[in-house]
Amino acid sequence: MTQTTPQTTDVVIIGAGLTGLTTAYYLQKNQKEFLVFEKQTRIGGVIHSTRENGFLYENGPNTGVVGNTAVVELFEELEQAGKCKPELAGKNVNKRFILKNAKWECMPLGPKDAITTPLFSLWDKFRILGEPFRAKGKNPNESLASFVKRRMGQSFLDYAIDPFIGGVYAGDPNYLTTRFAVPKIYNLEQNYGSLIGGSMKKPMKEKKTELEKRVNRKTFSMEGGLGNMTTALYESAGKDKFVLGANNIQVQPTNGGFQVSYENGAGESLVIHAKKVISTTGAFVLEETMPFIEKDLLRKIDSLIYTKVIEVALGFNRWEGIKLDGFGGLIPSKEKRDILGVLYMSSLFEGRAPELGALLSVFLGGVRRQDLMLLNDEGVRQIVEKEFKALMGVNRFNPDFIKIIRHNHAIPQYGPDSAERFAAVEELEKMYPGLQIGGNLRGGIGMADRIKQGKELAQTAL
Ligand SMILES: Cc1cc2nc3c(=O)[nH]c(=O)nc-3n(C[C@H](O)[C@H](O)[C@H](O)COP(=O)(O)OP(=O)(O)OC[C@H]3O[C@@H](n4cnc5c(N)ncnc54)[C@H](O)[C@@H]3O)c2cc1C
Repeated sequence: MTQTTPQTTDVVIIGAGLTGLTTAYYLQKNQKEFLVFEKQTRIGGVIHSTRENGFLYENGPNTGVVGNTAVVELFEELEQAGKCKPELAGKNVNKRFILKNAKWECMPLGPKDAITTPLFSLWDKFRILGEPFRAKGKNPNESLASFVKRRMGQSFLDYAIDPFIGGVYAGDPNYLTTRFAVPKIYNLEQNYGSLIGGSMKKPMKEKKTELEKRVNRKTFSMEGGLGNMTTALYESAGKDKFVLGANNIQVQPTNGGFQVSYENGAGESLVIHAKKVISTTGAFVLEETMPFIEKDLLRKIDSLIYTKVIEVALGFNRWEGIKLDGFGGLIPSKEKRDILGVLYMSSLFEGRAPELGALLSVFLGGVRRQDLMLLNDEGVRQIVEKEFKALMGVNRFNPDFIKIIRHNHAIPQYGPDSAERFAAVEELEKMYPGLQIGGNLRGGIGMADRIKQGKELAQTAL
């Protein structure tokens, strides 16, 4: 048997999604010795862009938010190195629609819109004036639904937060815990006693560094698709540091480090010794990769629920439906439709569809409708056709291009068991110095969170 990879290294990273790639990028930048083991034969994890028949579509996330300094720094570095170029969404990005009584309504952007919108009840519009004076919540595990009802009212929950959570988490606000799922909202109440008051006072109180000022919270993709971002990280970290198509990866602690065994693409069993191991996979993978974790501790970590999502990329050479001048539309669960929402990708970014055409991303399933995962492609197509005829002004549903992508572990749901999970991860890392458990089981679900965590994992390893 010939071993082509070295037999020792400083750091082993498991998983070459955005988290693992960012960690690898920063280890490389600091000249640390490392290897990345990835089960698939390509890098990027759920991020994957494809060009086909004049359309450029995403198979995973479609857009991210420039939401922290780690994103700003990384994008500036990659762009300066000529590796990839972030593309910010066009100016109609703030125009977002919410479905009410089968009609798309604009999401209010300011106080004036909030008064006139038909989305919220008159009673809640009055009630909102009292929001700054409402008492702080005392339950640290309060669900998001209870939090929003308490502070803003039922109609804000039904026609703002519920569709927003459907769009971001494909989740249920009754299950998600405010403190873990939307910590910014939780902290506004805890630190300022009010969401409205806190949003106004926070920027005045905070002194921002030059770098922090560049956190513009704008919506991003990359020129040529998000896949160009993961490719840029792969190339910058050094392609020779990646073992792709690595099967049955198993970590075992040894004296002063870890033994990592795996099978390469040819089915050969290989072993490598590392001082440190960083896992960046989902929680559901740990039982397989870390068999040494004591069962009770593991259950607290891998009990994390991941919702399933079906994503449908739809391309039209000539779009004849409703005007697509915005970000897209989200659908509240109260409306009882069979899709979660639609993103107008070709309205946000250049070159996604032919000139008179459109590229849309449609999402189905989520916590609301896990049953839809059982449908075959024809079943999914029929649902999308029915909903497009009802909601998107399409008389004849004849897309020139349709791609159906199923995600069995799409988005982790940070529910009431999160505190116990985070404590278990900390305990595990203390028991095995040199082991770091990253990935979206903690630290946030969005791409910006993954970049931030990837950088932190590298800093700890350094
Ligand atoms: C449908 C969908 C839509 C989304 N939309 C958005 C959005 O609009 N905005 C946003 O900011 N974020 C969005 N996200 C979230 C965002 O895509 C993720 O947070 C991010 O891409 C996750 O990166 P990761 O590296 O943590 O995980 P992953 O991308 O899951 O990478 C983990 C890697 O580990 C590998 N792996 C698994 N098991 C093993 C094993 N046994 N051995 C070795 N390797 C293994 C996997 O193959 C994978 O490459 C979306 C996610 C999905 C699924």
